[in-house]
Amino acid sequence: MHQTAAAAASVAAFPMRVAVISDVHSNLHALEAVLADVDAAAPDEIWCLGDVVGYGPRPNECADMVRERSAIVLVGNHDLASIGKLDTRDFGPLAAESAHWTERALGDEQAGWLRTLEPAGRREGLDLFHGSARDPVWEYVLSEQIALETMLVTSGAVVLVGHSHIALALALAPDGTTVEGGLARDETVIETAGARWLLNPGSVGQPRDGDARAAWLLIDIPAGRATFRRVPYAIEQTQAEMRAAGLPQELGSRLAVGM
Ligand code: ZN
Repeated sequence: MHQTAAAAASVAAFPMRVAVISDVHSNLHALEAVLADVDAAAPDEIWCLGDVVGYGPRPNECADMVRERSAIVLVGNHDLASIGKLDTRDFGPLAAESAHWTERALGDEQAGWLRTLEPAGRREGLDLFHGSARDPVWEYVLSEQIALETMLVTSGAVVLVGHSHIALALALAPDGTTVEGGLARDETVIETAGARWLLNPGSVGQPRDGDARAAWLLIDIPAGRATFRRVPYAIEQTQAEMRAAGLPQELGSRLAVGM
C-alpha cells in the first residue's frame, strides 16, 4: 500500500493505537515474543514505561531494541541503578547483585542513552510513570489508596504505570474518592470512556502476577479501549543465559512461575 509523506506524518503525530510495554528487564526472548505480537496488532506507536535492564542477561540488545522501536521510553529504578544514578543500598540483595552485573555489562552507547531518559512523561493526553505520580522512580501502585493518590494528582484520561510487574486496571469512581478494579488477566478488555483509568501493562521480562507469560497492553485511544495481552516465550532460553552469565539462580527460577 502506498502512503504519501503527509499521511505518514499525520499518523506519527496522532497515534491512535498504542502498544504499552514495561519492565523488560534484559529478557530478550520475552521482548522478541512481545514485539512479534505487537507487530501483528500493527499499532501506531510503542511506549515503554521503564526498567529496560536489570535482573536479566541481555541488557544491551534489549536497550537497542526498545530504543529503536519506541516513541517514548521512561527510565526505571533498575535502569538508574545500572548507570550509577541510584544507590543499590535501597535494593534487595539479588536486585543489587544484578544491577552491578548490568553496570559492568552495559555498553557505553546503551548507558549513555539510559542517562537521557526521565521516569515520567505525557503523550497524547495520557500520563506515564515508571512507579507512581508521587514518586515516579520508587513507589509501587499496589493498593487502592496509592492508586487513588496518583489519580488525584494527575489529569490524564488514562494513567499508565509500570514497576510492580502486575497487570492492573483500576477506575476512579465518579465521586472521585475511591478506585475500583484489580488484576487484569490475559484478554481483559477495558472500555476506558466514561471514567479515568489507571492501567499497568504488567511486565515483559519478569511477570509477578502468577502468569509467567510476557505481558503488554494495547490501547486504542479513539475507540476508548484497552486490551491486556500475554505471550508465551522461551523461558528456558533466558534461564540458560542467566546461568551462563552467573546471575543469581533465584532470578531465573522465578521466571517459570511468574512470581
Ligand atoms: Zn521492574
